[in-house]
Amino acid sequence: MSFNRPDIIRPPSEWKSYFLPLTSGCSNNTCTFCGYYGSKLQIRDVDDIKSEIDAVVLFTQSRIRLPNISKVVYAVAQRWDGKRIFFQDGDALVYPFPKLREVFQYLNEKLPAVERIGTYATPQDILRRNSNELKELRQLNLDIFYTGLETGDAELLQKIGKGVSSDEVVEAGKKVKEAGISFSVTVILGLGGIEGSKKHVFETAKILTAIDPDYVGALTLTLVPGTPLYEQWERNEFHPLSPFQSLEELRLIIENSTFTDCFFSSMHASNYLSVRGKLPQDREMMLRDLKVVLAARDPALLRPEFLRGL
Ligand code: SF4
Repeated sequence: MSFNRPDIIRPPSEWKSYFLPLTSGCSNNTCTFCGYYGSKLQIRDVDDIKSEIDAVVLFTQSRIRLPNISKVVYAVAQRWDGKRIFFQDGDALVYPFPKLREVFQYLNEKLPAVERIGTYATPQDILRRNSNELKELRQLNLDIFYTGLETGDAELLQKIGKGVSSDEVVEAGKKVKEAGISFSVTVILGLGGIEGSKKHVFETAKILTAIDPDYVGALTLTLVPGTPLYEQWERNEFHPLSPFQSLEELRLIIENSTFTDCFFSSMHASNYLSVRGKLPQDREMMLRDLKVVLAARDPALLRPEFLRGL
C-alpha cells in the first residue's frame, strides 16, 4: 500500500521547520478528543523517506524539481530556513528504531546544516525506548520531544483513552531529560468539562511540577466532529467550559505549578488568549495579565471563535 502523506499538524514553535513524514496517523488512536482518533498507523519505507531527502537537497541547492515528488515537498522546502526538521506524524517515535537511526544518519549526511530535529512522541513510545537508544538519538541531533500529558487527573486520563498513567508520563519525562533531550508537554484546558474542571487543574499542576519539563504548551479543548467526545457533547453528556472559564483554568495551573526553568505558553491557535513567559521568573507578570482579562470579562480581548484552530 502506498504511503498517504499526512496533513501538517505541528507545535506552534515548529513553524519554521521542514515537515518530514515518517509515519501517518497515531499508534495510540484511542484519545476521545483527538482528530487522530481511529486513525490507521502507516509506517513509511526508509527508501521513500530518503528519496524525499534527496529531492529536498536538490531543490534547496539547485531549485530543481523532480516530477515524481509531491508538490507539498516543494511548498514546504520553499519557505524553509534549512535549520530545523520536524518528523510527522502523531507519534513518529513509534518508527522502528533501526530504521529511525538510518533516517537520522542519512539526514545528517545529506543536510549537515540542520541544527535540530523534533518530533511528537507518546509517553508509551518513550518508555519503549531504552536509555541508550534515547541517548543515541540525541547524538544524532534529536533535540526535542513533544508529548501530550493533556491532564494530570488519573481518572480523566483513563476516561479519555490516553492509554497511559500520569506516573508513566513523569517517568517518560525523566528518561528524556536524562538523555539530554528537551521535553515539551501539552495540557488541554477544558478537558474535564465543567464538572471535572477543579480536579483537572489541580492534578495537572501537580503532575507538571513532578515532570518539571523544559516547555509547557497549554491548548484549549476544541470539539472535533467524529470523535467520541464530540458525540458526548451532542448527547449533552459533556459540558464544555466558556472561554473565560478556560482562562481561569490556565490561571490556576500557572499559579499552582512549580518549575525549575520552563517556558510556559498558550500560543497555540486553539487558545482564546496568548500568554507566555519563563517560569518561575515571569509568573507574576503572566498572572497579572490573566487577571486583568478575567476581571474585564470583555470578549473583545479574546481570540474570536472563527480564528481558533486545531
Ligand atoms: S496519543 Fe496524541 S496524537 Fe495519538 S490519539 Fe492520543 S492525543 Fe491524538
